[in-house]
Amino acid sequence: MVKRQIYEQLPRFTSALILVLSQSILVVGAFAIPIYSRTYQFNRVGNVDPLLALWESTDGADDSGGNDDKLRIVVVGGGWAGYSFCESISHNNVEIILLDASKQGRGGLAGGYRSKNDRPVEAGIHGFWREYRNTFDIMNVIEGVDVDEVLGDFSPSVLRSKNGKVAVAPVLLKEDEGEYRGQLGRIPALVNLSEESFRRFIAANLPPPLDLPVLAKLDNSMTKGDNSKLNPADLISGLGLLGAWADFEQESRTSWEIYDTQPASLLFEKAGITDALLDELVSPLLHVLPMCPAYDCSAAAALSCFHVFALQSRGAFDVRWARGSISEKIFGPWQKQLERRGVIVAGGARVSSIEKYKNGRYAVELASAPEDLGNAIECDAVVLAVGATAAGKLAASSPAISSLEATRDFDKLRGITCVAVRLFLKPNPSITLNLNGGSHDKTTLPPDMANAMSDSPISVCGSGIGGIDELKETGFCIYDLGRMHDEFSVDYYNEKGIVESDRVAVLEVDFYRANSFVDLDDEQIVDLALRAVSSALGTAKINSDDILIDTAVLRARNAVSHFSPNSALYSPHVKLEDGLYICGDWVDRTGHASWSTEKSVVTARQAASALSRDFGLRGSRCSVIPAAKDTAQLSALRQSARVLRRILPPKSIPPSPWVFVKQILSGENDP
Ligand SMILES: Cc1cc2nc3c(=O)[nH]c(=O)nc-3n(C[C@H](O)[C@H](O)[C@H](O)COP(=O)(O)OP(=O)(O)OC[C@H]3O[C@@H](n4cnc5c(N)ncnc54)[C@H](O)[C@@H]3O)c2cc1C
Repeated sequence: MVKRQIYEQLPRFTSALILVLSQSILVVGAFAIPIYSRTYQFNRVGNVDPLLALWESTDGADDSGGNDDKLRIVVVGGGWAGYSFCESISHNNVEIILLDASKQGRGGLAGGYRSKNDRPVEAGIHGFWREYRNTFDIMNVIEGVDVDEVLGDFSPSVLRSKNGKVAVAPVLLKEDEGEYRGQLGRIPALVNLSEESFRRFIAANLPPPLDLPVLAKLDNSMTKGDNSKLNPADLISGLGLLGAWADFEQESRTSWEIYDTQPASLLFEKAGITDALLDELVSPLLHVLPMCPAYDCSAAAALSCFHVFALQSRGAFDVRWARGSISEKIFGPWQKQLERRGVIVAGGARVSSIEKYKNGRYAVELASAPEDLGNAIECDAVVLAVGATAAGKLAASSPAISSLEATRDFDKLRGITCVAVRLFLKPNPSITLNLNGGSHDKTTLPPDMANAMSDSPISVCGSGIGGIDELKETGFCIYDLGRMHDEFSVDYYNEKGIVESDRVAVLEVDFYRANSFVDLDDEQIVDLALRAVSSALGTAKINSDDILIDTAVLRARNAVSHFSPNSALYSPHVKLEDGLYICGDWVDRTGHASWSTEKSVVTARQAASALSRDFGLRGSRCSVIPAAKDTAQLSALRQSARVLRRILPPKSIPPSPWVFVKQILSGENDP
């Protein structure tokens, strides 16, 4: 009887054994064959889109367009995507009109607003990750923008969950360490015998992303009991994601489609990561990167987001923050540069619909616009550089767009609501000194708050903090702007001799997925922000009557692309038809591993490339810089995953070996 049972179970155990062995080989192999993979990497042609490579060779050819009837292009949207598109195309002798609904006509979501008392405000503080190659590249060509003056150095940040401070994420790659030695052949030196030096030495000799847990400083002082602390077993359980990470191929539409139909919650369940790791590390990051909870985030988006922002290369998690408003520091000089090249930038110009004439030309109709533009603009080509929900609305009112196959599902596109709160406080008479991170090491925030943020001026907070009802599904970031933006820094005030009464300490609180409270009035939202800060930092709640002197609340309703399950299916290619193009952080970037600002720049360059090809423009500058190549280890993992997928094709997301064994033992039939 027992024998028969064993025989019956044999095929199942055999396949379990194959899977466990192959996943082990996959992990071990990743480290055992780096030399082979490294050679493979060096010999491999970079992953440049062939179409883009073609246009790369024509960069800077200074085309005159060749005729007097200039091609007229209307660009709708003045954010990173719209400006990058104009930057690429404006080297040709063409007429470009950029229309943006916001009054200032530049900066996109960030905009450039003022508080009640005319202090500068922006919708969200903007960070630039190390691998934002195309974004840095484009900033480098803006006259009047010196990247090292506009952005601070890479800065550490602190991660907080509902249970308190989780970890300090230090700057992973220091200037003098070079890249992982496997890539550069350099062995980092052990500088001294301090714990910090040992950590950096070990991390520098490990392939990414294994350096991350070594360098992250976990906090052991969590307040809610032992269960909420991360221990080594929790961190190791994260390895369960390796199989899916390797199996998922950023550059393959098919792979996206498989993973995109599943929620990230299933991905984490299949990976067998512990509840503590999910609550303390994974979930807070999801709430601030794709800005949604695991059940409402596609597994493809979660994997891609972690890959791009953290895992793809050594130091990928490192961020530089703007030293002031990006609207003023970057978009201001950029607008001037584009205008010098003849681009017409019109703020306060809201497009209501787009018509197409029989002769193939378009009419862009305006719901509101500066007088000289009239009600409609006729043109040869239109570029939509608006967010996903705005594109959905435009398609709904424009049969010329909604009739296209590529826009069939635009009505299903969803956006995430963000609320940005800026709090201007009376400076504390005692200045707190010698603080880490940011561009300035002093603050005049209340001392308890200053000390709670001593490791970094940036606190990244998960959902559910302080048991506050409105924050159940809302993540947020707290920024001490006195340490990040020059114009609010103690050093600047001293240098300029600003009188005491004109000085302020500034806190910014940006909430992501703020749907549950976006309709509250400003006063209620300010109070919520003060409660959120006090709970996250464990500090006294600021009494608004005492020291709060000015506030600004900005609401961005459904404005941020929501990568919910199935969303990739609705995301269009940059070319909708001859003459109609689209770009932005929700548009298919054909395999280029990029997100947010970088994705907007990449898709803008890809759209510029497609338009240039269709209209024979030879002066365009639209080469896309490829994303980081896979490390030797990831490359080896991927090769093994491909083999494994051929031998044992999983029905959905592949489980980790330990979840697979558990499924087999419990009689589940879904390896
Ligand atoms: C709070 C917050 C914080 C963020 N932090 C970061 C960060 O740290 N790093 C990062 O990389 N990204 C960050 N992002 C995301 C980043 O802002 C976006 O990825 C980026 O703005 C996308 O640029 P875009 O040009 O594609 O679109 P948008 O910035 O959305 O620009 C679209 C433009 O189109 C205009 N428009 C819309 N409809 C119409 C119409 N009908 N007619 C005319 N104009 C129209 C809008 O006015 C807008 O200016 C953050 C976003 C938010 C909300």
